[in-house]
Amino acid sequence: MRDITLIVIHCSATRADRPYDVEQLSRDHSARGFDGIGYHLYVRRNGEVVQCRHLERIGAHAKGYNARSIGVCYEGGLDSAGRPADTRTPAQKKALLQLLQQLRSLFPEAGIVGHRDLPGVHKACPCFDAMREYAELQPNAAQSASDAATKRP
Ligand SMILES: [Zn+2]
Repeated sequence: MRDITLIVIHCSATRADRPYDVEQLSRDHSARGFDGIGYHLYVRRNGEVVQCRHLERIGAHAKGYNARSIGVCYEGGLDSAGRPADTRTPAQKKALLQLLQQLRSLFPEAGIVGHRDLPGVHKACPCFDAMREYAELQPNAAQSASDAATKRP
């Protein structure tokens, strides 16, 4: 397994009142030139977790940080007016938490950060404070983000 130092949380940046399924995600990422879906894991509104890419494969989700990270995306992130918002359903929150617990047991050294927490990123993604919400899962998230920045190729 490659060396994983970060678990990066994303939203799909799609409206929460419109389904955005795996086929659409796959089409959109392929259109952007990715070799399939760039995230490793995708969490649907109903809490279903879909593995889109093997963890061993480098993802395409956080420019400059892909080599040593896992990308996790939840469906949504925009409200019905198209504004950035934490649109996670209770089922999604539960599924995300369980998923992150599993990933932390696989990669105990990895920090959990939101996409926007990475240095140099100017996005709202994932539209909630992932470092704070998952603070209990990870003592050193802030350190992980700054370490990632200094190790950036
Ligand atoms: Zn993102």
